[in-house]
Amino acid sequence: MPPPPVPYRGRFAPSPTGPLHLGSLIAAVASYLDARHHGGVWLLRMEDLDPPREQADAAASILSSLRHHGLHGDEPTLYQSERHAAYRAALMALQRAGMLFSCDCTRAMLGPNGACTGGCRERDRNKRNAAPDTGALRVAVPADCVIEFADALQGQQHTTLGLDLPDFVVRRKDGLFAYQLAVVVDDHAQGVTHVVRGADLLDSTPRQMFLQRALGYATPAYCHLPLITASDGQKYSKQNNAPPLHNADAPDNLRQALAFLGQPAPPGTLREVDAILQFASARWSVERIPALPAIPATALGLTE
Ligand code: GLU
Repeated sequence: MPPPPVPYRGRFAPSPTGPLHLGSLIAAVASYLDARHHGGVWLLRMEDLDPPREQADAAASILSSLRHHGLHGDEPTLYQSERHAAYRAALMALQRAGMLFSCDCTRAMLGPNGACTGGCRERDRNKRNAAPDTGALRVAVPADCVIEFADALQGQQHTTLGLDLPDFVVRRKDGLFAYQLAVVVDDHAQGVTHVVRGADLLDSTPRQMFLQRALGYATPAYCHLPLITASDGQKYSKQNNAPPLHNADAPDNLRQALAFLGQPAPPGTLREVDAILQFASARWSVERIPALPAIPATALGLTE
């Protein structure tokens, strides 16, 4: 008998760097609808891992906006600020596997994509089991490491991780756990089977898959949505003035997100967010989403 299918578990994992804006609502709506359409569970994770980048009250404001838009997590929200012990345990597992080394390159020394250029891996070779409690830690990626995966929207991906993003940081110099490590530990802990998120994270996925393999975790299915970009080509985000969403306009905001995602327009008679989401989840199809890495804000009639 074939094994029973693994139940679908999706998630939305915002960083509390500012209020919810259209770009982040799109990721929330797409991950929610994909989960609902597949009869799955939808989880929320607050990625409050990096206090210097965070904004006071942003976490509460994001969660309140999600509620106003009818987007309710099925389990209690996981806060990364409460997960340090789990991240430390994962670092110790990597260390026991002889995969970590400490790096004391200064910012000015770093190569493309933040690569270590100081020969720290070689220098550290003899003391891999003695990773210090402070300073940057990197995971050693074999030079010939290739990661491949089929993204549900962006198609087949192929990265020579060992050359393109070698020996990436898993604990930062300031002692904070790196996003790549935390997201892998938490996707595993939350039993996430499907990741639907913005294409700005497409190049993080091979690093995350590398860590999943190193830690013996399963790899979820990935779907990277097109990003809304500002005229400078950067992600349309809180950092470049994407206006916050007004909760009072939640039904219209959902309609806008659905239009961006190429989904059928809910009839005008549907005025409540729950009815709009129900309509959309019944008709949800990833095939209708434009299979593009980015769409300019101006093409959507959005102001910058
Ligand atoms: N916290 C990340 C962000 O807001 C998203 C992480 C993820 O979806 O993997 O960009």
